[in-house]
Amino acid sequence: MLSDAHAPEKLRIERGPRSGQTIIVSVDSTRPGPALGGCRIKGYPTWGDGLADALRLSAAMTEKAALAGLPYGGGKTVVALEGSSAAVLTGRARSELLADVGELVESFGGSYIIGPDVGSGPDDMTEIGRRTRHVMCRPESAGGSGDSSRPTSIGVIASIDAVREHLWPDRDPAALSFAILGLGHVGSLVGAQLASTGARLIVTDVDRSRQALARTWGATWADPDEALFADVDVVVPCAVGGILTPSSVSRLRCRAIVGAANSQLDTEGTADLLHARGICWAPDTVVSAGGIVAAVARELQQASTDEVDRRVREIGRRLAAALSAATSSGVSPLHEARRRVRPLLATLP
Ligand code: NAD
Repeated sequence: MLSDAHAPEKLRIERGPRSGQTIIVSVDSTRPGPALGGCRIKGYPTWGDGLADALRLSAAMTEKAALAGLPYGGGKTVVALEGSSAAVLTGRARSELLADVGELVESFGGSYIIGPDVGSGPDDMTEIGRRTRHVMCRPESAGGSGDSSRPTSIGVIASIDAVREHLWPDRDPAALSFAILGLGHVGSLVGAQLASTGARLIVTDVDRSRQALARTWGATWADPDEALFADVDVVVPCAVGGILTPSSVSRLRCRAIVGAANSQLDTEGTADLLHARGICWAPDTVVSAGGIVAAVARELQQASTDEVDRRVREIGRRLAAALSAATSSGVSPLHEARRRVRPLLATLP
């Protein structure tokens, strides 16, 4: 369904000349600066579904960059593999696809800079980098900033601290309880950090092999369908998007939701339902920006390690300011975040 999305500044769709795969690049906005956005390689029921995803995700990137104070716009590449269960491409087929993606990125002449996203990683960026220099997050050994999950997790922890200060300024962090959904790259780092504070943890993942990690933290394992509804202070979504719907919100028992997962709300109206229930939802466009903030600082602005760290932790201060302003005006944090970026971005609805 495309009608909810505003038109991107530039949109290119092609069937890769080598790979035959449908490649979509949506550049939502270059008004603040060149557009940044990752490469999602994923199976979709139809390429039209991939297009809808590209439009939505590129608009979210514009907002994420603006909220993080970055002088960059938002974009996204979606490789819409045919069939929702399309096998992950490997070997020559993958190399051909990445060559096609690299050439398409190059055709934007630097107005779009690609990085990793779901289904792609730093090594893929090295291959894309053979066709264009407008690429970020190649492995550190290849001169890039590598895997972004560590700075993303630092931004999530800074955001959790901001929410704790906002809701429970007098409570010891060790006295809080958390439900972490997804123990992948980001969730495992966030979980390790929270476990080290002595906080009570409930964790889940569809990959049951992650139970071994949960045991090392002394965390309680929950069913993936139930963890969202755990009786905890904070739910930390670090798996998939779309989990907050009118139906799921009515069953929540937490007091706050703060996590890295992109696009947690099914629709924006769900933020109002959370607000009405008195649940503090920290917008994922603010919380999950650590990776992009660090990559920009390291690769495009040559910032020192200390400065990179400072900018990532700044996410907590930005969130704290938005939460405090939202409370003063009686609006949801999403509403406040939108109010902050709207003057910066003509394209926002
Ligand atoms: P990942 O793929 O490494 O980890 C995701 C984990 O979630 C996996 O272990 C997977 O098995 C699990 N999972 C999948 N579906 C699940 C479900 N329904 N219930 C419970 N667990 C489920 O991904 P990641 O890099 O850790 O990123 C996590 C989330 O944060 C994603 O939504 C991603 O888009 C977002 N994000 C990541 C970064 C980053 O730097 N990695 C940056 C911004 C946003």
